[in-house]
Amino acid sequence: MIHIEIPQDVAFILGKIRNAGYEAYAVGGCVRDSLLKKIPKDWDITTSALPEQIKEIFPRTIDTGIKHGTVTVMINSTGYEVTTYRVDGEYLDGRHPEEVEFTANLDEDLKRRDFTINAFVYNEAEGVKDLFGGLKDLEDGIIRCVGVAEERFGEDALRILRAVRFAAVLSFTIEPETYKAAVKLAGNLSKVSAERIKAELEKTLVSDNPDYICLLKDMGLSKVILPELDEVKDTLGLKKALKAVNKEAKTRWAVLCYYLESELNTGRNAETGSISKKVMHGLKFDNKTMDCVIRFLTVSGNNISDKDIRIYSRRLLNRIGEEDIYHYLDFADAVGCISGDSIGGYELLKNAIDDILEKRECFSLKQLAVNGRDIMKECDINGKQVGELLDFLLETVMVSPEKNSREVLIEEAKAYGKQQL
Ligand code: ATP
Ligand code: MG
Repeated sequence: MIHIEIPQDVAFILGKIRNAGYEAYAVGGCVRDSLLKKIPKDWDITTSALPEQIKEIFPRTIDTGIKHGTVTVMINSTGYEVTTYRVDGEYLDGRHPEEVEFTANLDEDLKRRDFTINAFVYNEAEGVKDLFGGLKDLEDGIIRCVGVAEERFGEDALRILRAVRFAAVLSFTIEPETYKAAVKLAGNLSKVSAERIKAELEKTLVSDNPDYICLLKDMGLSKVILPELDEVKDTLGLKKALKAVNKEAKTRWAVLCYYLESELNTGRNAETGSISKKVMHGLKFDNKTMDCVIRFLTVSGNNISDKDIRIYSRRLLNRIGEEDIYHYLDFADAVGCISGDSIGGYELLKNAIDDILEKRECFSLKQLAVNGRDIMKECDINGKQVGELLDFLLETVMVSPEKNSREVLIEEAKAYGKQQL
């Protein structure tokens, strides 16, 4: 009997349900990850008990998805999803089952799951139950649908992207029948919501094999959900760059977007970022990530022309912001837009940035030794002119950081005011 380590809380929940006379198992991803010696993100529990019965057993529960049979059991401050065995009804829209029906039969519940490696259950009394040869697939590194692949993808097209995602995350290959069915039913992906598509693409991108994103192209999936990818000719370059950067989502998205842009926007033009904006809007990105990716693209499209590496670095910090600067460096290095001859390449640039940050040299308005109020008081100017003056002072300090003191800047401001305002 295969034994896996389960957290105390999970053992407690399984034990309590079983003592009340029902079946209960840990199920799905947590069992798969445990068998792979990875630490599971969360522990899902499947049971023959009905939601009402679970609520009678545990004092603190939340009705998370009671219609679908899911109750969250709270132990201390952690929640565990406990779901009643169910059979999904017909998927008339290829997205949501019309209705779910509860069943007392574990096998029925496991049959509705997507892949053999996601259809294990475990409890300490019975060990791992493997109805569909998942253990062998796990050993061989194979993503295979439970049952007939075409039917499974027909019911829920999101599973097609989940296949790609699990292949990328686990470094597995997609079994030929499953692969063929995915290719055949690619069109059904048009029914899947943008949010769910984005989530799967992102999990693929932040995996150990971000280059598997190109499977979308090979399998004809991108023509339905990301047609811009089909235009990328240098897929080798894209794959290499994706693997070269850190695992942060925004860095990986920025690399992908960089390639989408460079193929479709012929020549560097003012529109850099327009294709990515469209793609990210379509995928319902949050504004913060989208802004960051667009900043990376526009700055890399490069209009910082200083030859002095420290001035260049301060301008870079000004444009990118401290929070994202190392992600940017990583990105820029991977796509090859750090120009070696003018500023000396990645290492020198990184050292310069480290040093500027350590010395707290000024590269933003909020670090200036004077603010708008100081300027208005000292220079007798109106509110409108303050902005222009502050920009001038920041420019001065980015070139000559030693000038970032109140006295010097007030002098500079007065001189500028006399000449220009
Ligand atoms: P992870 O949480 O690491 O993303 P997971 O396998 O736990 O992976 P979840 O989305 O949390 O994935 O789903 C839990 C389980 O529910 C899966 O292991 C699988 O058995 C089942 N499942 C999830 N989504 C689907 C789906 N679209 N079709 C069929 N079964 C699914
Ligand atoms: Mg999970």
